[in-house]
Amino acid sequence: MFQRILIANRGEIACRVIDTARRLGVETVAVYSDADAEARHVAMADRAVRIGPPPAAESYLNGAAIIEAARATGAQAIHPGYGFLSENPDFAEAVAAAGLVFVGPSAKAIRAMGLKDAAKALMERAGVPVVPGYHGEDQSPERLSREARRIGYPILIKAVAGGGGKGMRRVDDPSRFAEALEGAKREAKGAFGNDAVLIEKYVSTPRHIEVQVFGDGIHAVHLFERDCSLQRRHQKVIEEAPAPGMTPAMRTAICEAAVRAAMAVGYSGAGTVEFIADASDGLHPSRFWFMEMNTRLQVEHPVTEAVTGVDLVEWQLRVASGEPLPRRQEDLRLHCHAVEARLYAEDVPAGFLPATGRLAHLRFPGGVRVETGVREGDEITPWYDPMIAKLVALAPTRAEALVKLGRALDETRVAGCVTNLGFLSALVRHERVRAGEVDTGLIARDLDRLVPSGPPPPEAVAVAALAAAGPADGPLAGFHLWTPLSRRVDLRWKDEPQAVTLALAGPRGARITMDGRTREAARGEDGWRIGSGAAFDAVAEPTRVTVFGGREGTWVFDHSDPLDRDVDATGHDVTASPMPGLVRAVLVAAGQAVAKGDRLVVVEAMKMEHALSAPRDGRVAEVLVAEGEQVEAGAPLVRLEAEDG
Ligand code: ADP
Ligand code: ADP
Ligand code: MG
Repeated sequence: MFQRILIANRGEIACRVIDTARRLGVETVAVYSDADAEARHVAMADRAVRIGPPPAAESYLNGAAIIEAARATGAQAIHPGYGFLSENPDFAEAVAAAGLVFVGPSAKAIRAMGLKDAAKALMERAGVPVVPGYHGEDQSPERLSREARRIGYPILIKAVAGGGGKGMRRVDDPSRFAEALEGAKREAKGAFGNDAVLIEKYVSTPRHIEVQVFGDGIHAVHLFERDCSLQRRHQKVIEEAPAPGMTPAMRTAICEAAVRAAMAVGYSGAGTVEFIADASDGLHPSRFWFMEMNTRLQVEHPVTEAVTGVDLVEWQLRVASGEPLPRRQEDLRLHCHAVEARLYAEDVPAGFLPATGRLAHLRFPGGVRVETGVREGDEITPWYDPMIAKLVALAPTRAEALVKLGRALDETRVAGCVTNLGFLSALVRHERVRAGEVDTGLIARDLDRLVPSGPPPPEAVAVAALAAAGPADGPLAGFHLWTPLSRRVDLRWKDEPQAVTLALAGPRGARITMDGRTREAARGEDGWRIGSGAAFDAVAEPTRVTVFGGREGTWVFDHSDPLDRDVDATGHDVTASPMPGLVRAVLVAAGQAVAKGDRLVVVEAMKMEHALSAPRDGRVAEVLVAEGEQVEAGAPLVRLEAEDG
């Protein structure tokens, strides 16, 4: 086994590799771009080396810098993770040329499977069924359109260099072919620098079923199948193992075909052979076809680990260091059912737009495997894939695994950026999904039902107001500040104003008035309960409140008080009253240390209370007002000691 390895990746996969390496007593070296200097994978590794500025092309795709980092730190091997350089044969060669081990297959095997046309031709020769289509040299539009007619519509145009669902176009009708071809070529050129395409029959009621394989260069085994049919725009959303409705005959056929594919390229390491199955009449051994082979660890590998009990990264490290395959085929068994959901920072109603933001609050539930590369306080930047985590549920049956995953999704709390949690939660409860009737078109067909929409329920607005009114250390802690007056809180949900009036009601309760109706709220262990409804929880940030309604959804409210002075931006030492009013409370004294955001003084005007908070960390030099005093707009209230230097 290696003594030290370098992980040429970031995020959850880098953390996941480090976990196993550590368990095996292997030291780890992380690499990072400037955007990731504080990232979780950097903190987890034994050592970390900066490799460049944030753009991936100058950092995580900078093979020379990565190899240099491995040399400089005495790493013996490089684990590429997935994405980035993991399927780049030139990088694999350069690693070997530097006297290091590439944890993955040979450059030759990567190359053989790298282009979809050549891979299909190779698979045909190896006796693996491939999707009927055209994968020839002639790229003239006339030839391609003729082949499309011969294959029969609907067809799929695919970039031969494609990946991640890019450069792909489904065409249902010959009149749309020319336009689609142009689009696919343009996208392929931009994404892969190669605009060659192939044409495939579009399989009806398609199910994506893939087989995890593992080779040591001489032998290869399979670790059964995964179903990744729940996709959006050809990208996986939910993955599971085993495939629903799998029959013994189909499993034998597809797994054997996958092993044949691996053996045909003398495969070494972890790989995935992806097939498309026609499920219009259930799964049948004669109705699945090879699509491509991914010559790396796959994002969804944890579902296979869950149902086989194998640590695939451990196998990767063992085989790369020269050990034989840890288990024989007959010693591998399937147990239980596992389902994985990919949690992303993305704006689902806006069309699944990637989102960014600082994770002001982040809590994962127990009972499921969580793979993540971020911690509370970390930033989802625009530089890389906006994945926050993968949640993997394992249970004796598929139905139980889905229930477990649904509950875990509802218990996951993310504030600071929008996520696809509500969408995932709706998806795992979709009746066709529960019935195992999955196909790659399901999400698109039922998008309206899966995308959370509609305004937040009154309970969510009420809890948002409660959270906005209270300071960070517990929603009730600030109530004394606004007794006996009731307090009005102005919120916005997607630009729609929401006015709420709050009044204290007992030690753990409040009375909430909105839209002319008053409701009682009680604080419980699991959040606020409004009336007899479900409990809602919330996280308040200075200008934003995130309300968690479990299965009901998550809502984000803006809470920027128009009267709030932007003391922070001016950096002034003196906090002044933004309006004429009455000083209701003075919360600090001279000499007291304060942290940025601490409340200093509460001023009341027009029956509204307004808290002024510290613009920065510091010490109070002088309190210039007293409780009960009337002040003018602009009157100085508190002065902080000047900052050093
Ligand atoms: P899977 O999700 O099944 O593992 P994908 O093909 O969707 O396989 O890609 C896995 C990861 O690799 C994703 O994070 C994706 O963003 C990244 N990826 C895929 N293809 C490319 C590519 N051509 N260039 C850069 N990253 C890619
Ligand atoms: P990528 O390299 O982008 O992952 P794939 O060839 O693996 O490209 O295809 C991505 C997805 O597109 C598949 O998971 C499947 O949902 C869909 N797809 C691919 N080929 C076909 C086909 N011939 N018929 C129907 N759907 C297909
Ligand atoms: Mg694929």
